[in-house]
Amino acid sequence: MDFLSKYLTEIKQLELHRELYTYSFRDAVHAQMDGKEYLILASNNYLGLTHDPAIKQAAMAAINEYGTGSGGARLTIGSHPHYALLEQELAEFKGAEAAVAFNTGYMANVGVISSLVGTGDTIYSDELNHASIVDGCRLSRARVTIFQHSDVNHLSSLLAQSPSNGQKLIVVDGVFSMDGDIAPVDDIVDIAEKYNALVMVDDAHATGVIGPGGHGTAAHFGLKERIHIQMGTFSKALGSEGGFVAGRKTIIEFLINKARSFIYSTALSPATIAAARAAIQQLTSRPELVQKLSRNACFMRRSLRDAGLPVGEGVTPIIPVIVGSAGATIALVQELRREEVIVSAIRPPTVPAGTSRLRITVSAAHEEAELAVAAEKIAAAAKRLRIVV
Ligand SMILES: *Cc1c(COP(=O)(O)O)cnc(C)c1O
Repeated sequence: MDFLSKYLTEIKQLELHRELYTYSFRDAVHAQMDGKEYLILASNNYLGLTHDPAIKQAAMAAINEYGTGSGGARLTIGSHPHYALLEQELAEFKGAEAAVAFNTGYMANVGVISSLVGTGDTIYSDELNHASIVDGCRLSRARVTIFQHSDVNHLSSLLAQSPSNGQKLIVVDGVFSMDGDIAPVDDIVDIAEKYNALVMVDDAHATGVIGPGGHGTAAHFGLKERIHIQMGTFSKALGSEGGFVAGRKTIIEFLINKARSFIYSTALSPATIAAARAAIQQLTSRPELVQKLSRNACFMRRSLRDAGLPVGEGVTPIIPVIVGSAGATIALVQELRREEVIVSAIRPPTVPAGTSRLRITVSAAHEEAELAVAAEKIAAAAKRLRIVV
């Protein structure tokens, strides 16, 4: 077992060791630990839907009606009625012909990429894509070509040199999870059509966040079916858990028959799926939620900038503050925890070496006043520790 402790010692020395914390959430953005109350600026609960009364009610009703577990994989035992309804509603929400749910966003990415392409095919993947896309690429055994972040000229030149045989798949995060910027999917789709490549967009941080009504990246750019695979999750803005893919009927039928992470895993519980359905319904009937999120995101970005922190011009609720070293990032996050503000410390391998950062996320459930106080605390702590500013 020596190699295990050797590894752990090594990552501690590099300030890359990770630990779990336990918090009790009182609502979507406030949590308690050891008698203290914390403001959470680290969650992906962008619309605060984890604690929405109607959604909680829907989940409880589903347990009462169908039980706590699904009992098996969907192809072996069938599925509770909420599944088919959810998939129909999702397809509508995404403006697609059909949709299929996966147990997590991670499993959706791994399952989709590894079944759509294989040996002899080529994947074009943005260098900052989420780890689950990276793992899907590895599992596929296709040739993986990484292009510079959101650099459509680079992507285009790589496609121009692509082998003439085999499938081509371009895959990007719609909203990048650690940087909060939006992929130039309008240009990517133009290039894809020129080279006859499939386009897959991961909307984990775009669903419920960007586009009219929070419909995601395709809606943001007005692209609809020009994106072949719209992947998304219930785990972020939709306040539940699970992943999904929306697209043409043929693609969905193909995935149901081919994606191993779909076929060989027990279906999600009735409560989870009912919660996801109720969340989509809340999102559809309360467009003001998305507007509030967007206002809060702009307010926080401005407050942090006014307090002297280097925060970019973006529009999404993911706000990176680049620190550089892993050690300094951890020190800053711990200092903020003492001040009852929780932000994430993001270090390699999640982000490239030398770009460790605070990842600050905003929710529609935050009040402007508490965001303003938090922005001051973050800037003051950074100054005290002589970090960033
Ligand atoms: C969170 C995330 C996933 C994985 O989704 P889970 O539902 O958490 O498994 C996939 N892609 C991106 C971009 C993500 O941020």
